Amino acid sequence: MDKQLTEDQWKKRLTPEQYKILRDRGTEAPFSGKFLKNKETGMYTCAACGAKLFKSDHKFDSGTGWPSFYDVFSSDAVKLNEDNRHGMRRVEVSCANCGSHLGHVFNDAPDQPTGMRFCINSACLGFEPKNKNDKS
Ligand code: FE
Repeated sequence: MDKQLTEDQWKKRLTPEQYKILRDRGTEAPFSGKFLKNKETGMYTCAACGAKLFKSDHKFDSGTGWPSFYDVFSSDAVKLNEDNRHGMRRVEVSCANCGSHLGHVFNDAPDQPTGMRFCINSACLGFEPKNKNDKS
């Protein structure tokens, strides 16, 4: 469905900031994102297509200024690709469903269960709070 959209269609659907980050592989300014301090229980989704990406259970405060997760919702939710832009060797994280850029993953969180830090732009995420009556 959504993954069939053209770049023109994405431009119409997303805000200019979201387009720049999701479709043009940009990065929001640190400490600027709306989900950085979100501590609610729920599911983080792709802001472009709505796919489930990260659980609040896996979110932690990395001190970097971007929402950080030590794991993904499921291993097929994201795609990882080498990213050598800007003179750095990084691993880019993108949405497996629609291909939109989400952020990068670093192996620098030894105090977390996986040792990994998925460093994700707030602008690339939606959030579905868990219903308090939902026991699943
Ligand atoms: Fe997506």
